[in-house]
Amino acid sequence: MIIGVPKEIKNNENRVALTPAGVAEFKKQGHTVYVQTNAGINSGFGDQSYIDAGASILPTIEAVYDIAEMIIKVKEPIASEYPLIKKDQLLFTYFHFASSEPLTHAMLERGAVCLAYETVEKADRSLPLLVPMSEVAGRMSIQEGAKYLEKPMKGKGILLGGVPGVPPANVVVLGGGIVGTQAARMAAGFGARVTIMDVSLPRLRYLSDVMPANVVTQMSNHYNICEAIKTADLVIGGVLIPGAKAPHLITRDMLKLMSPGTVVVDVAVDQGGCIETCKPTTHEDPTFIIDDIVHYCVANMPGAVPYTSTLALTNATLPYAIQLANKGWRKACEENKELKLGLNVANGKVVYRGVAEAWDLPL
Ligand code: NAD
Repeated sequence: MIIGVPKEIKNNENRVALTPAGVAEFKKQGHTVYVQTNAGINSGFGDQSYIDAGASILPTIEAVYDIAEMIIKVKEPIASEYPLIKKDQLLFTYFHFASSEPLTHAMLERGAVCLAYETVEKADRSLPLLVPMSEVAGRMSIQEGAKYLEKPMKGKGILLGGVPGVPPANVVVLGGGIVGTQAARMAAGFGARVTIMDVSLPRLRYLSDVMPANVVTQMSNHYNICEAIKTADLVIGGVLIPGAKAPHLITRDMLKLMSPGTVVVDVAVDQGGCIETCKPTTHEDPTFIIDDIVHYCVANMPGAVPYTSTLALTNATLPYAIQLANKGWRKACEENKELKLGLNVANGKVVYRGVAEAWDLPL
């Protein structure tokens, strides 16, 4: 199969969908890979590294779309890319169709075959192509939180790990899923005193087993959250209720329970946030202050660490992309239920229930 890797053109998107290691893997399996010039440059992969791995470099995005049978990307195509997509061309990328009606209609009109990273699903209902980005954001939340706790950044001026003779900071993590687990691990590694909260008792049991001694697990409820945030220096929001907006576990009223300079990092901001006062921010201007509480609410945290994010994402996507290339999308989806659930648009129709329902389209 002929694989095409365009350079991402969405604002501030520095990731790339295939690394030189991925190119080498495709070549080993007998496929041909075309990469747009500078596609990987912001993730640390120059054109020469792709050439060395066996890819050919094309000068324009038009040339990549023109030649490829399968396009591998990171973000959904934007309007200027729509006309480049050919009938029956396979696109493997994040789409998030349920949040964009114009994108859905554009892909139907172009006759594209759209396999969405975000709906590839394992039998245990986990989403293997979303997990790596939650891992990145979870780990990063502590790095960012530690930075904004510094006085010049308007925080309390407390070091997460303390020093000998001085107690460490208190970190409260709301949600013990992928984001919360990674955040708790990082905070514990810094030497902070960590409380991780979830509504799932089995999850708390698991966390209690695997976390180091400076992480305490606690049932998430209003009373416990109110108590915990009174002494918190850093609060991480990592709650998710699949298919729904995040619940506001910390309301505006509750901010007054926290001491001035406390930092909240609401990773769940992309689902509305679990702290009521959060609204999405950008890497250019990541924080704002309400009632003396520093709010960090960047909606695409992994975008700031494209090297790590690209490797994490491609580690997860490559095995699926190889199956698609080896077998073609029809056979690959027939033989692999996880991939089949990734199929959102095919043969000019929406084939994923959530998307059809979102835009009142026939399934
Ligand atoms: P996950 O499903 O792995 O974990 C969510 C956890 O929240 C689950 O363990 C669940 O039991 C728990 N939960 C549900 N209700 C709760 C409550 N009331 N109190 C405490 N815990 C509760 O999800 P995840 O992969 O960790 O993702 C968390 C959020 O982070 C999602 O909204 C995701 O979209 C977001 N995210 C944001 C970024 C970013 O850049 N901002 C990046 C990646 C993920």
